[in-house]
Amino acid sequence: MIDPLIHALKGNYSSILMLHRISSIKPDALPANQNMNVSPDELADFITNVKRRGWVFLSLDEMYERLVNKKKLSKTLVLTADDGYRDNLTEGLEVISAYKVPLCVYVTTSFPDKTAKLWWYALEDAVCYDAKKNDKDYDIGLMNERFIKLRSKYLESYTNPEKYFSDYFPTFEPDWNSYCEKYCLKWDEIVFLSKNPQITIGAHTVNHACLQALTYHDAWKEIENSKTKIQDKISLRVEHFCYPFGGSDEASSREYNMATEMGFKTATTTVGGNVFPEHKDRLTSLPRYIYKQSYKIGYLSGLKQNAKYVLKSLYV
Ligand SMILES: [Zn+2]
Repeated sequence: MIDPLIHALKGNYSSILMLHRISSIKPDALPANQNMNVSPDELADFITNVKRRGWVFLSLDEMYERLVNKKKLSKTLVLTADDGYRDNLTEGLEVISAYKVPLCVYVTTSFPDKTAKLWWYALEDAVCYDAKKNDKDYDIGLMNERFIKLRSKYLESYTNPEKYFSDYFPTFEPDWNSYCEKYCLKWDEIVFLSKNPQITIGAHTVNHACLQALTYHDAWKEIENSKTKIQDKISLRVEHFCYPFGGSDEASSREYNMATEMGFKTATTTVGGNVFPEHKDRLTSLPRYIYKQSYKIGYLSGLKQNAKYVLKSLYV
């Protein structure tokens, strides 16, 4: 218990940041559905700002190496991007290359396999379709409010997108393939990214399922099948994983042990916190911060986060 506190006071910790989309904010799209976007300019400003203050960006392999060899973690950051959005390549790579920072892209294999149903983009189209159909004012603010309400309904009560759309939009037929085409990395693009030394390709399950809700066997297959499929495609070992949704209700010790048994070097959660030297014994349950627009570096070094981690470690 005392060690993390000492490390926190000395600043000997790292922070892993979670992004999803690296894409500029589009004025004609619903603002609420762009909550996963970090614009390339914003990311560039953030990288410039923290580099100027002496922070260093590590790849996950470099962080792993520092942890297992008990090297200093001070003023280090790791960037990760979840799911496998196409803009990581089309808009993000330019920034990543220009500033020479590493990025881990965690791929959900149903994205490039085009079997994923990106219901939140279908919902945006359905809300616009309804507004047009009903000859209502094409007011983006009103549509945005409706989208937020309907998105909550899906998240509260549905897991089947087809059922949801037949309940709420019986005359709207989502073209599921078109959303994968538009938003998801394709396999040849993932292969292309994997050849870039700044990019690590990690696994993120097949179907982005809540692992804790699955049987042991099904959860294992979700992880293992994504790992082996990506390895076959990119001809490289996949050594890093992140848990879908990633909170303690979606993944915990059972899933952390699976990731260890499958030989992953690291696996990341969405439980907020910094990475301390003690995490060398918990490499498959690493905390991460959600990167937010207008991210402030002070947040990473804030005592609040350290206190939270130390308090939590009292009860683990
Ligand atoms: Zn995800």
